[in-house]
Amino acid sequence: MSTANPVTAQPDSPEAQRYNRIRRWLGIADFVIGFGLLIILLLTGLTGNLRDLAYRLGQQYYTVALVLYVVMLMLLTKLLGIGLDYYGFRLEHNYHLSNQKLVGWLWDQVKGFLVSVVLAAIVAVVLYSILREFAIHWWLLSWVVFLGLFVLMAQVAPVVLFPIFYKFEPLQNEDLKARLVRLSERAGTRVRGVYKWHLSEKSNKANAALTGLGATRRIILADTLLDNYSPEEIEAVLAHELGHHVHRHILKSIGVQAIVTLVGFWAANLVLHFAVDRLHMFETMSDFANMPLLVLVATILSLLLMPALNAYSRFNERQADRYAFRSISSVVPFISSMNKLANQNLAERTPSRLVEWLFHSHPAISRRVQAAEAWNKLQPAASARG
Ligand SMILES: [Zn+2]
Repeated sequence: MSTANPVTAQPDSPEAQRYNRIRRWLGIADFVIGFGLLIILLLTGLTGNLRDLAYRLGQQYYTVALVLYVVMLMLLTKLLGIGLDYYGFRLEHNYHLSNQKLVGWLWDQVKGFLVSVVLAAIVAVVLYSILREFAIHWWLLSWVVFLGLFVLMAQVAPVVLFPIFYKFEPLQNEDLKARLVRLSERAGTRVRGVYKWHLSEKSNKANAALTGLGATRRIILADTLLDNYSPEEIEAVLAHELGHHVHRHILKSIGVQAIVTLVGFWAANLVLHFAVDRLHMFETMSDFANMPLLVLVATILSLLLMPALNAYSRFNERQADRYAFRSISSVVPFISSMNKLANQNLAERTPSRLVEWLFHSHPAISRRVQAAEAWNKLQPAASARG
């Protein structure tokens, strides 16, 4: 299955191949468990029992019962998946990719669970309120409300959600800040801030990202990257993230998400009507025992669209890379940062085409390096630029 390595980069170590293979299987197993639970809840009618229990506990109040149902559904999913989560935690340690203590990890699990319960409960209450009031156009209305939620989440995530799990502080390094200002000025744009992301307490992997919208737009750089890479290499990473900003990738991704969500709600409406009107699985559209069916539609849709959405993401990444090549005076530090990243994160430089096509949101590192080398060959005067 694996294609020949097109560039001079070393082949992947058996260790990196094994680690990534296990990670993929963990992801697939996690998906199968979640999918299986939804099917079982629907086919056995267990979702009805769960709803009745929620009504009893909630003193027959619809909204209280709905929230309790969400909590029970998520608790069930978490309990079924916690074994795999723990295996994933052990895996990172076995491959020396994390030093996080078990207590810290457990606390992260608790926080993660609580945050997702709160978010899911809000979404469920909004969705089923619309379903109760607007039986015909609920899916269009819900779509509009979800669009607003996406924009809101993109805006508040860097200042509200991420700090629940990680510490952030404005970057103090004057040299790096000056490099960013130079890059931004050349691009005729401005990013509000660059933040140091304290990742090292949880992972030894390096990472960087562009996050936020409007006033919360910022580049975050992991301390695992800041501590181990040369200023020129970090500048190359900054230039790549600035490329995402200049090409408006966050806004475009929200646009793509909007189209996917519209299709999803349209399909959910058809499936729900079929289940209520034809199969008589539920008495009404707003019977929240049908929630597993809605989640199932969303799950199947995202599975079907995964290759297309990953291809779109890889397209954006290539665009950000090309932006970086143009902005920095030499691609050599870009290439060395890629190679460091692959080593540090135990990433596969040359995954098989199929694996890349199905699972990877970023192009294979060998291809990113190859693109940098090809770009360099076309720029005879590159070394003379400042
Ligand atoms: Zn990127």
